[in-house]
Amino acid sequence: MTILARARDLTRRYNDKTALDGVSLDIPAGQVLGLLGPNGAGKSTLINVMTGLLRPTSGSVELCGGDPRSEATRRVIGVTPQETGLPETWRVAELVDFVSEHFPDPVGRAELLKRFDLTSLADRQAGGLSGGQQRRVAVALAFVGRPRLVFLDEPTTGLDVDARRALWEGIRSFHADGGAVLLTSHYIEEVEELADRVVVVDRGRVIADGGVAEIRGRIQLKRVTLTDAALPALNEVASIERDADRTHLLTNDATALVRELVTVGASFTDIEIESASLEDAFLAITGDRRIT
Ligand code: ADP
Repeated sequence: MTILARARDLTRRYNDKTALDGVSLDIPAGQVLGLLGPNGAGKSTLINVMTGLLRPTSGSVELCGGDPRSEATRRVIGVTPQETGLPETWRVAELVDFVSEHFPDPVGRAELLKRFDLTSLADRQAGGLSGGQQRRVAVALAFVGRPRLVFLDEPTTGLDVDARRALWEGIRSFHADGGAVLLTSHYIEEVEELADRVVVVDRGRVIADGGVAEIRGRIQLKRVTLTDAALPALNEVASIERDADRTHLLTNDATALVRELVTVGASFTDIEIESASLEDAFLAITGDRRIT
C-alpha cells in the first residue's frame, strides 16, 4: 500500500494555545478520508500543516515522499483551503487555463468543467459569480493538475443541495480514477457519502480512526423514536431530542429501554428502533460537542 501522506507526532502551538497535540496520520493512495471534529478541534491547522502552509511546532510531514513545501510535491497534490479568493475580473475558463499551465499534464478545461458541472459558467467573470459558484470553481481548481492527493477544507459549506451534489460527483469521479482525498466537512452525511475512512479529532488529538461503518458500529447506540411521548425520567437514555410530535431517545441498550418504558407506564405511539447514525456516533465520541 503506497502511503501518500505521512504525518508524525505533529504539534502546533499558537502562543500558549495548543491547536495540534501529537497527531500522527497516514493517508494511503486511493483513499477518501473524512476528518471530523468540533469547532476548534484543530482540523484546519492539521490541513495547513500537512500541506505546508503552516510549519508545525514539532513533528514531521512527508507528502508523496517529499517535503510539502517543495515544488515537486506541490505538483502532485491539490489544495482548497477554507478561505479562497478568485481574481474578480478573470473568467472561469481563464482561471482554469492559468492554473493548468503550472502542471505538466493537466485535465482538459472542458473535461474539468464538465466533471464539476461548471460548463455553463465558463465565460463568466469570477467576481460576478455567487459565493457558492465561486466555491465550486475554487474546489475544481484543486483537481486541474491530476493530483494524487487532494486536501479540501469544508468544500461544500454554504452550498445548496444541488451544488453540493455536483461537487460530490466531481470528487467521486476523481476517487474512481484512484485519487486520494482528505476532506473536512460540516455535513456528516457528506463524510458518510464519500469517505472510506473517518478520523475524529478533538482538542488537537485523534480520538477515533476507522471505516465509516466501524466508527458508527463502535458506538453501540440505538435511536428509539416515539410519537406523542409523555415520559418520566428514564435510566436507559443517553440523550433526548424532540422535533414536533416525535421524541428521539439514544440508548446503549434498546431492549432494556423498551422494558423500562413499559414498566414505568410511559405513554407513546408508533415506536421505531434503528442503529445510530455516524452523527450520533460522533456526538457520543466527542461527549456531545456539536460538529461545526
Ligand atoms: P477547526 O478547523 O477544527 O475548527 P482550527 O485548526 O481552526 O480548528 O483551530 C484549532 C485551535 O487553534 C482553536 O482553538 C483556534 O482558536 C486556534 N487557532 C487557530 N488559528 C489560530 C491563530 N492564527 N492564532 C491563534 N489561535 C489559533
